[in-house]
Amino acid sequence: MADIAIIGAGTAGLTAAIYARRGGMDTVVYEAEAYGGQIINTPEIENYPGLMNISGFEFATKLYEQAAALGARIEFDKIVKIECKEDGTFTLKGGYGTSEDCKAVIIATGAKNRPMGLDGEEKLTGKGISYCATCDGSFYKGKTVAVFGGGNTAVEDAIYLADICSKVYIIHRRDEFRAEKHLVDTLFSKSNVERLTPYVVSALKSDGRLTGIEVTNKADGTVKEIDLDGLFVAIGQIPRNEEFKDLISLKEGYVAAGEDCLTDKEGIFTAGDCRDKKVRQLTTAAADGATAALAACEYIRLSAL
Ligand SMILES: Cc1cc2nc3c(=O)[nH]c(=O)nc-3n(C[C@H](O)[C@H](O)[C@H](O)COP(=O)(O)OP(=O)(O)OC[C@H]3O[C@@H](n4cnc5c(N)ncnc54)[C@H](O)[C@@H]3O)c2cc1C
Repeated sequence: MADIAIIGAGTAGLTAAIYARRGGMDTVVYEAEAYGGQIINTPEIENYPGLMNISGFEFATKLYEQAAALGARIEFDKIVKIECKEDGTFTLKGGYGTSEDCKAVIIATGAKNRPMGLDGEEKLTGKGISYCATCDGSFYKGKTVAVFGGGNTAVEDAIYLADICSKVYIIHRRDEFRAEKHLVDTLFSKSNVERLTPYVVSALKSDGRLTGIEVTNKADGTVKEIDLDGLFVAIGQIPRNEEFKDLISLKEGYVAAGEDCLTDKEGIFTAGDCRDKKVRQLTTAAADGATAALAACEYIRLSAL
């Protein structure tokens, strides 16, 4: 029986594996897709402390290699169920037939950005389309960008970009923004911000990189074209916790857990973007991974399973 089973081989899950192995635990990580998680498609990471510049793939590969070298077993299957047994241990069930017994579980399943669903969107991601202003904003210094969305993330992204870029359009499908009023006021106090409401992004223009967008007015159907260097999509994230909703408490789909990474089910911990929190970055995912793993090590030692 494994001591700790980790669901998800992103930054949080692999960091948890490193700490769990260093804590002497028999550790297995299950990954549904490719190791590394969301970061693997990012050409450059510039904000991870100690690493001036590294590609997302190289970063993920180093993490994977570090966890594997320490003796973590990394398996590929989507975990679809966690069964709780009477003796306090768990069995993970996978879509491809996995059945893994363990003493503690760390859910590190991350989140997916909600896509616009437009033709070419996937191909242009990283080539003019971004879902993370904090991560990619600096690549658009002095350029013209748009932010699509109307919540706090979209407005915060637009404020951040307005300090870096020459021009920022904010595109929202309603006239009213969902974001907090003080954020909206800050945004529209900036002279290089132009509001496009009630508009949606309806098509993408490219020459291999994004060159512009078409926007459609939701009220009267009129269409405009805008030349752009970058489009930041902030229309929400989709946490990947659906499989666990009957077992642990979720808050708007995210695992309801604080900075201690404890869920409301004893023996189940959580880490990274799947957790309810404000800042979703590599640093916070790694921090959660360490916290969750150390908490799981302590749980196993104290409960003497
Ligand atoms: C385009 C882009 C660029 C970014 N750039 C930066 C940046 O420069 N700097 C920065 O700090 N942050 C950046 N981020 C944010 C950063 O990638 C995330 O904060 C980080 O990846 C979160 O790590 P995580 O391990 O919590 O989740 P994820 O990276 O999402 O990893 C979760 C993993 O769990 C797997 N999984 C999900 N469900 C299951 C299941 N049921 N069974 C098994 N496996 C499962 C997934 O396949 C995935 O591999 C960027 C994000 C994006 C999308």
